[in-house]
Amino acid sequence: MLQIIAGVDIGGTSTKYGLVDNEGNVLYQGSVKTQFPDVNDYIDELENAIREGLESLTDTYELVGVGIGAPNGNYFKGTIEEAPNLPWSGVVPIGKLIEDRFGVPVALTNDANAAAIGEMVYGGAKGMKNFIVITLGTGLGSGLVSNGEMILGHQGFAGELGHQSIKTKGGRQCKCGQKGCLETYVSATGIKRTVYKLLADHHIDSELRNYSFVDLNAKIVADHAKQGDALAIEAFEYTGSILGAKLADAVVYTDPEAIFIMGGLAQAGELLFKPTIKALNDNSMAIFKDKVKVLPSKLDNQTAPIVGAASLIIQKMK
Ligand SMILES: [Zn+2]
Repeated sequence: MLQIIAGVDIGGTSTKYGLVDNEGNVLYQGSVKTQFPDVNDYIDELENAIREGLESLTDTYELVGVGIGAPNGNYFKGTIEEAPNLPWSGVVPIGKLIEDRFGVPVALTNDANAAAIGEMVYGGAKGMKNFIVITLGTGLGSGLVSNGEMILGHQGFAGELGHQSIKTKGGRQCKCGQKGCLETYVSATGIKRTVYKLLADHHIDSELRNYSFVDLNAKIVADHAKQGDALAIEAFEYTGSILGAKLADAVVYTDPEAIFIMGGLAQAGELLFKPTIKALNDNSMAIFKDKVKVLPSKLDNQTAPIVGAASLIIQKMK
């Protein structure tokens, strides 16, 4: 029988899931809401949704595993721990709950680690053994691969680059409780905060002043930058300069062949990549200068989290 893997990406508001074949094609996808106060009700909903998907496929497939990407996902224990944006507090044994429903292997890790494995199995990092994946959404996630293996760390939480501080003291308040975290500057939300900071500090005539904080998004900033809006361009240069400098720090830890950037903010292309690459090289010592490729992800932006989660099972089966 043909084999299929369920890839599940648990987000704060909704959970996206899909059925992925061995080549990384998403044959079915959908979403369920995440906000169930009781985790068992949530698992009921997700199980039904996945089973419906399996029944809708034209060929008969055997489900061989469920891969899950989740905030604060612990790979070793299959748990989600103290995730600030999810409705369940404490330590939640999501992996075990899903395994009990389907009777197949379940692999769970944080969403950015899942994206990194997805990039290695199906994307631009095929054949690479040392690379970093940065996901730029509401926050900044990262997955580090060294010698062909994901760096998990002692507890299973390694690679939280979004929460390294860019300042020795102070900086923007992060929802993790710390100040100055990288993701408060470099993320879809971070660039909005930067636009408002620039609007407050400078007297530049920018159309961005017509947007409320709620209405503004990274795409609007990118569109204005492409039309020559000086403040929008400065917002991207500021964002890229911070990202590049912190990537230079990451490079000295793991000596990667490439850094892949994915997610909404990465869609801005050169606007973000150019200042990022410049700052990376400006802050790199000679042995790393101009040696690390900074590339857009080769995974489809829409399905990358699902494919990434499913690839955890491919990786496990190897
Ligand atoms: Zn933080």
